[in-house]
Amino acid sequence: MPTKDYYKILGVEKTASADEIKSAYRRLAKQYHPDLHPNDKEAAEKFKEINEAYSVVGDPDKRGKYDRGEMDIGSGGAGFNPFGGGAGGFTATGFDDIFDMFSDAFGFGGSRARRKSAQAAVGSDITYRIELTFMESVLGCTKPITFSRLEKCPSCHGTGAKDDAHCKTCDKCGGSGQIRHVQNTIFGQQITVGACDKCGGTGKIVTEACKACGGKGVVTKNKVINVTIPAGVENGAVLQLTGEGNAPRSGNGRNGNLLLEFSVKPSALFRRDGYDLYVTVPVSYLTAVCGGQIEIPAPDGVFIHNLAEGTANGETLRFRGRGIRTQRGITGDLFATISVEVPKGVTRSQKKALEQFENDNSLKNYSKRRAFLDEIAKTYPKK
Ligand SMILES: [Zn+2]
Ligand SMILES: [Zn+2]
Repeated sequence: MPTKDYYKILGVEKTASADEIKSAYRRLAKQYHPDLHPNDKEAAEKFKEINEAYSVVGDPDKRGKYDRGEMDIGSGGAGFNPFGGGAGGFTATGFDDIFDMFSDAFGFGGSRARRKSAQAAVGSDITYRIELTFMESVLGCTKPITFSRLEKCPSCHGTGAKDDAHCKTCDKCGGSGQIRHVQNTIFGQQITVGACDKCGGTGKIVTEACKACGGKGVVTKNKVINVTIPAGVENGAVLQLTGEGNAPRSGNGRNGNLLLEFSVKPSALFRRDGYDLYVTVPVSYLTAVCGGQIEIPAPDGVFIHNLAEGTANGETLRFRGRGIRTQRGITGDLFATISVEVPKGVTRSQKKALEQFENDNSLKNYSKRRAFLDEIAKTYPKK
């Protein structure tokens, strides 16, 4: 029968104290942890060996038997499991020690530490729809909003129990609210953590419920908060206020988030594309012909622009940096499209004046019309 030197495996003397053995094990378990050596069979084997050694000499009872040569070494076979699967069983303390060590090992960048924290009780998110006028969305604003959310019950501090005497520590999970599951894989033991089914993850068993919350541990409260909405939010955008959502249905954990969803009313003046704004500016026939002052609406107010003489219908003016301006310094442009309004219902004397204007100028000022008539003449030659 092969005999393994567990002290040698752990790199300690036969006379080492329990603490020395424990710290040696911690160090080696971290060093050879499969998370740090993916696809390394040697490290996996070493890790398994270290665990086997510690499961014996880390336990005072087993260490005594091992020292006296009363233990069957190596007969456990491939199914060896230091987490209590063996016939000898494992003390609760030993179990926790090993688990804590693994947590430490995962602590430096391991994925499991994150998974563990992700399982802490988290309240649900609340979605709140905020209506904004177009200008509010462009400029940003501060708005008080009222909503109801679950908050930790002030009477029982979230335990859900009438008092401390009616709130017992869960015997299944020992109050941690979590149950560990251990699986053997080719790289060693895989630990997963899930919520305790007996206490629902709270770690507590309530024997008489709190009257204020009916045992839920949470109460519904109306909450008013002033929300600062940044400039430039778009229709359908969502702003997350972390931790402003519902409290979890147990004493500990963290609140969910408040998700503010913006519903922006369309504007009769502006159309938006990204951070650019588009506006159509109707101008009079006279202004288009002779030029003159026109009003251009912009996020920061209306400004006056001197329209050039002879501006055509549909011409677009670009004003750089006068679109939407965000707090982060992003600025869009403002595009103003000129829409020349042709007058209707002119009087007889006005018509006379316009006819006079046409006769004076003939076609000399109508370059496009002139080119058009030339093209017609070429396309349809006289026979
Ligand atoms: Zn309560
Ligand atoms: Zn429990």
